[in-house]
Amino acid sequence: MRPAHALIDLDALRHNYRFAKSLSKSRAFAVIKANAYGHGAVECAQALADDADAFAVACIEEALQLRAAGIQQPILLLEGWFEASELPLIVEHQLWCVVHHHGQVQELLAAQLGAPLHIWLKLDSGMHRVGFSPAEYAGLWQQLERSQNVARLASMTHFSRADEPETGRTEEQLATFERVTRDLKGPTSLCNSPGILAWPQAHGDWLRPGIMLYGATPFEFEQEHAARLKPVMQLQSKVIAVRELPVGEPIGYGSRFITQRPTRVGVVAMGYADGYPRHATDGTPVLVDGQRSQIIGRVSMDMLTLDLTDLPQSGLGSNVRLWGAGLNASEVASHAGTIAYQLFCNLNRVPRRFI
Ligand code: PLP
Repeated sequence: MRPAHALIDLDALRHNYRFAKSLSKSRAFAVIKANAYGHGAVECAQALADDADAFAVACIEEALQLRAAGIQQPILLLEGWFEASELPLIVEHQLWCVVHHHGQVQELLAAQLGAPLHIWLKLDSGMHRVGFSPAEYAGLWQQLERSQNVARLASMTHFSRADEPETGRTEEQLATFERVTRDLKGPTSLCNSPGILAWPQAHGDWLRPGIMLYGATPFEFEQEHAARLKPVMQLQSKVIAVRELPVGEPIGYGSRFITQRPTRVGVVAMGYADGYPRHATDGTPVLVDGQRSQIIGRVSMDMLTLDLTDLPQSGLGSNVRLWGAGLNASEVASHAGTIAYQLFCNLNRVPRRFI
């Protein structure tokens, strides 16, 4: 069998959820949308079933998959519903919904529901993606509060730059949120992972940790938070070929890398079809038998090449870790012009093995 696989450490996931909760008195949605950021939503939800206060997903398809797997906690639909025809299923499965645009408000007010819904009304406090403006928010709140289709109202917002504390943007968003919701009664939720880690004054009643559950730091790669989180996914493979090249020889497509010294090249069964980023530059770190090596040459569909010259003990059959314990995905992402979120979500073809 091809040796490429992703080992998913569910104990590390539990550790990271408990760590997020230990930073606050708030409750926490475990954000497991997009197949738990590529880690396997059902397995992750089941692993957190005794710990998690609630889960959050993007859409009803993701929520129904969790209900079918026996998940009983509240599940929040972060984008609410896309068509009013979803409402009966939302009632049947007791899903919580974000409401972020006027069409949803109208549909909710007009619907004949078997039971009222738990609604999180989204404020656009400055990200300007979804949510209601500060000017219209309280009016909509009061309208929904009076509706027999609403069992409980809560307020939420989303930060655009919580991972860049020096910009001042989060203070502005927080001040807007506090001003608009001051007189409204109901739980609040503001913080994604960088908010949880960097903005304790914004924790509110419910946290929404995503990337930190999977052990990657949400900040531009740094060690401080990375060290307190446990990487959940170990993306692994093996060296499947070794070749010795003299000085001045090109490696791989486009001859991007030219050897500067006699070089021992290791070929690894891992490529962009597996989700490894094609944009990984020369020098992107990789662990070979636990030791640091680096990518040389362009990543191809099923293989990549790395420098084994300084690792004489390693060779054919050596274990290669592309990210995971000892090599945070955020560090790899920083060499590929992307973020750990995308690395995880892009995982493809490689089987997941759960431990
Ligand atoms: N809350 C909302 C509304 C989101 O869209 C997301 C993810 O994109 C999260 C929370 C989790 O964010 P993070 O993965 O940065 O913790």
